[in-house]
Amino acid sequence: MKKICILGSTGSIGTQALDVVSQHSDLFEVHTITAGNNADLLIQQARQFQPDTVVIANEDKYDYVAKQLADLPIKVYGGSQALCEVVCNQHIDIVLTAMVGFAGLPPTIEAIKSKKIIALANKETLVVAGEIICQLANEYKVPILPVDSEHSAIFQCLAGEQGNRIEKILLTASGGPFRKLTREQIAEVTPEQALRHPNWEMGAKITIDSATLMNKGFEMIEAKWLFGVKPSDIEVVVHPESIIHSAVQFSDSSVKAQLGMPDMRLPIQYAFSYPARLHLETERLDLFKLGAMHFEPARMDDFPCLRLAYEAIEKGGNMPCILNAANEVCNAAFREGKISFYGISDIIENCMHNVAFINAPTLEQLYTTDATTRTMAMERVQKS
Ligand code: NDP
Repeated sequence: MKKICILGSTGSIGTQALDVVSQHSDLFEVHTITAGNNADLLIQQARQFQPDTVVIANEDKYDYVAKQLADLPIKVYGGSQALCEVVCNQHIDIVLTAMVGFAGLPPTIEAIKSKKIIALANKETLVVAGEIICQLANEYKVPILPVDSEHSAIFQCLAGEQGNRIEKILLTASGGPFRKLTREQIAEVTPEQALRHPNWEMGAKITIDSATLMNKGFEMIEAKWLFGVKPSDIEVVVHPESIIHSAVQFSDSSVKAQLGMPDMRLPIQYAFSYPARLHLETERLDLFKLGAMHFEPARMDDFPCLRLAYEAIEKGGNMPCILNAANEVCNAAFREGKISFYGISDIIENCMHNVAFINAPTLEQLYTTDATTRTMAMERVQKS
């Protein structure tokens, strides 16, 4: 029985992870669940899964959650600091990082230091602090198992390939909802349009990141750290059907790909069960029904966030942290109707030029970079 802690159980990945646990309750047990604000769903999940511990990060909601669960033998905590403490519980085997944004970094660090297996969905952790996280994981001998569908695909392609050089990673992308629009049309898109992803049901932040292609830029950075490849060895391939979840080309020219219907429960389950594969109750791929698959290059000029992500990882240091912090502010501002679609990339680029660059930042310097960039990006949002 593997005991699992789900950071962000009320989100898109978190709820799907609970579904995976339900399908294999003989193998997986929910030890801890945490939420940001959604107290009612957290309470409902706690009643259903009877975990040892729950955390509500928003302290204002702690009393309510504690009162609602008072009849059960469940430990209830409130506040962000509690996230860093509960992940260290000696009974937890796997920590699924399914929180969104920079907030996922501190508990992930504590989980690594407590030698938990990391099932990593929170890509922002590797974007911001990839080098530090990889060093820590090495030092504490902790595996980081990818949950992002593309990285899970690459990870599956690499099974049995130890020692074989990766020549190229083919990182697939759906292209998002604006793949076919002209630059002029993209300039006018609304948050409602951007929130309608063609293939995946995801949280709001990553759905907007998919529309700007910042998500693909983040995934490129994530791939660099997870698989030790150079950004120039990663090719983004727009594949609108989202059936090939990514592929790896080896030095003998062989290309291995992982295919399947788009369903995040597969990569979540694989991270939980690795190296075993378990039955998953989900739609099977029918190639005859699918008929054809299509591929095209990413339009870097019309989706500048992808270019900015390339620039950030090439520059290194705290630049990806600046990229991420400015993106979190701009992504939210766009959803709130405060800036336009291209306002997102304009403000991010401006922050990348103006926040002080640090070549080899410490963790503390990354926290400062994050805070400074957020302030700068918010000022730019207010002025626009
Ligand atoms: P959601 O917005 O659906 O869920 C985010 C979760 O994190 C919720 O449980 C939310 O709580 C919690 N949360 C948000 N902010 C905080 C905070 N400051 N402190 C504590 N908890 C917080 O996001 P997704 O599930 O879509 O994405 C989660 C992560 O997984 C992201 O990093 C994303 O990039 C990555 N990912 C997601 C995929 C997907 O298909 N959804 C695919 C691949 C990667 P509450 O709702 O209660 O406020």
